[in-house]
Amino acid sequence: MTTETDRTAAPRRSMRTVLRPTSKVLPEHARAHNRSLVLQHLFHDGPTSRADLARASGLTRVTISDLVSVLIAEGLVEERGIRPGQRVGKPAILVGMRTSAYQIVSVDLTDASQLRGAVMALTGEAVVHAALPIDGRTGEDLVDFVTRFVRRLTASATQPVLGVGLGSPGVIDATGHVIEAPNRGWYQVPLAAELSDRLGLPVHVANDANIAALAEFTFGGAEGSGFMVVTVGAGVGAGVVVDGSPVRGHGYAAGEIGHVTVDPDSDRTCGCGRVGCLETVVSVPALRRATAGLGREGSDAALASAGRVLGGALAPVVSALNLAEVILSGPAELLDGPFREGALEVVRARTMPVVHADLSVRMAALDEDVVLAGAAVLVLSGQLGVS
Ligand SMILES: [Zn+2]
Repeated sequence: MTTETDRTAAPRRSMRTVLRPTSKVLPEHARAHNRSLVLQHLFHDGPTSRADLARASGLTRVTISDLVSVLIAEGLVEERGIRPGQRVGKPAILVGMRTSAYQIVSVDLTDASQLRGAVMALTGEAVVHAALPIDGRTGEDLVDFVTRFVRRLTASATQPVLGVGLGSPGVIDATGHVIEAPNRGWYQVPLAAELSDRLGLPVHVANDANIAALAEFTFGGAEGSGFMVVTVGAGVGAGVVVDGSPVRGHGYAAGEIGHVTVDPDSDRTCGCGRVGCLETVVSVPALRRATAGLGREGSDAALASAGRVLGGALAPVVSALNLAEVILSGPAELLDGPFREGALEVVRARTMPVVHADLSVRMAALDEDVVLAGAAVLVLSGQLGVS
């Protein structure tokens, strides 16, 4: 029975590790926690019997049977018949998650010029894509525009929508409150709550680089012991996962590496008003400027030089956190080559062998849909406790 139905039960991309819950489980949360244990197991491992679920989760058979009944009533889980090939004992009925019963609406605000969105399957594949030029909208105007965009996407979903996930540049807290996103004109905007009110759906909002890291972790096979995703776009940001947990930081600004000064004597003023920020050297506009009009050799040299600057900024971070991987996300024609090699060369030169012996600097496994897939992980994790 390893056929169509089974295949849809487990995500297409391989998943080796599971995000560790970041907060303690309180008694009143136990039921929700148990429920997410069951869904997590079914999501990652496919159809299973109730007895195996009890063994895998450490919960009693009675608890598992109750939870499975509730999940079946909610339409999230279904019985899938008898385990094939079983010869001895009472035949075990398999239960599986109905990953095709719901869809997720994802929105990516990384690109300053356009909104990108998708209707996603729970397994992370985009079913419908959409894009809309932003035309300079910011602030409240942009919130209205995003609302209309999501309504349109929701209308094109072919299954009930479990929730909406949105990734945006900026500093965003765990509730989806935007503390600041200067390029979007958002300061202290309770974006998730506001969109949820307007749409009548659960909405989860997080920093785009942080959710790119979630996507690489859940769908891209990233090494959960420690890695960072560096997103190179209009600016440069990073999302960090250490010891199986996403790192948020004291003020939710972990990974904000774009405005670290890399050249105090530079004559390039940054959007933040200071000079010589990493973003003035390592961003898509900066890299395009540095390579404009150059032949292959000159362009390679310019990209290698920018990569070395990134390596210099990352070496202390890689060393302090003992990361296994640095994953680059952005245009491959700029990043995947002399730029990537230059970054690795400098991190190697500036850290101890024990830190860099197994370090890899590679391109992201997911394509331009990385933030959309990460937004889907936000919803899965927020609504079902699955990550
Ligand atoms: Zn700056």
